[in-house]
Amino acid sequence: MSLPNNPFEIAQRQLDEAAAILGLSPAMHAFLREPMRELHFSIPVQMDDGSYQVFQGFRVQYNDARGPAKGGIRFHPDETIDTVRALAAWMTWKTSVVDIPLGGGKGGVICDPKHLSEGELERLSRGFMRRVAHFIGPEKDVPAPDVYTTPQIMAWMMDEYEVITGRHLPGVITGKPLNLFGSLGRGDATARGGVYTVREAAKVLGIDLKGAPAAIQGFGNAGQFAHQLGRDILGLKTVAVSDTKGGIYNANGLDYEAVLAWKHETGSVINLKGSDNITNAELLELPVTVLFPSALEGIITADNAMRVKAKIVAELANGPTTPEADCILFENGVYVIPDFLCNAGGVTVSYFEQVQDAYNFYWPLDEVQARLDVKMTKAFHAVHDMAQAQHAHNRLGAYLVSVKRVAEAVATRGWVR
Ligand code: GLU
Repeated sequence: MSLPNNPFEIAQRQLDEAAAILGLSPAMHAFLREPMRELHFSIPVQMDDGSYQVFQGFRVQYNDARGPAKGGIRFHPDETIDTVRALAAWMTWKTSVVDIPLGGGKGGVICDPKHLSEGELERLSRGFMRRVAHFIGPEKDVPAPDVYTTPQIMAWMMDEYEVITGRHLPGVITGKPLNLFGSLGRGDATARGGVYTVREAAKVLGIDLKGAPAAIQGFGNAGQFAHQLGRDILGLKTVAVSDTKGGIYNANGLDYEAVLAWKHETGSVINLKGSDNITNAELLELPVTVLFPSALEGIITADNAMRVKAKIVAELANGPTTPEADCILFENGVYVIPDFLCNAGGVTVSYFEQVQDAYNFYWPLDEVQARLDVKMTKAFHAVHDMAQAQHAHNRLGAYLVSVKRVAEAVATRGWVR
């Protein structure tokens, strides 16, 4: 059996399994296997020293049968068109599983934002928008933050779009700062939604989470808030966290505020006083109740899946587990909350942001959080019930729920039957 590590091949393979069970027609299956549309472009940027660099960018609109394409933009040195395609496919299933009226898309730029000044980052962000402005819009395709893109970047992009179109259209992009038409509750929404699904998983599994150990791989937006909200909402004790430089461990628990302050001060979580340094690989194999993969794709594979000891794997990252690893985890009784369900809180509050932008009327925080809880809880149980009924792992359950809805929208539009 071939073991693809190309994320798009993995995404296609996951779809194939669901398509067979759902009995999709060959034409429908073929249609859902490929992006509907994609744009490749180059972005020239003047650097601070006066020289010019040309960056390569992509925007993939995977499917918009259920509504405008929706999904983030990543700035990453290892970005490829196939990663963006895979992420755009997963966005399609993500907006469907939480049943919001949006499709799926994703963007990316091959760059290393850690080596760009603020001015260079702004010129790159505005350059990105100039390339995609006529291809996106509140009624076509709505980007958002993702790996290494921030609310400030969303603000620059929104401003550039408004300059180009000559109109006030904040709903062109979500994840914006609060002082520029963002939504309350968007900042921690990805982790919060994931924490709600862990709460529901613990209920169906009969696990008590109070004081239970957790490990978090990746300490970006999702991982940081998982540490805080895991404590505040679930009572979890986070014993290990990591970032690209490595991880730290303390069996008695890591203090969230201390880890965050240390990360801000030194740029990494490693070497925090009172903790032991561990590797990312060791973190994944700790005997914890909840493991939150919260960084990039392809980290739980056929090579390490049999050593994952967590009871619940809550995938805040997109695509952290390969199909072979899925089977191993399922056989070992590890309960996986799959990425496009677990991390759907971000896009759900992005949707709320768009609704508020369209009405020019903004909701209080408790309303955002209550609506998010309703969406996540409903989606969790739909997936869990489907997986149970099919005797399948939750990822397949999630695909069955999501793909069915997208295929129905495609068929009802009369595109493919
Ligand atoms: N980038 C996030 C994700 O992968 C959020 C997307 C959005 O808000 O549109 O789900």
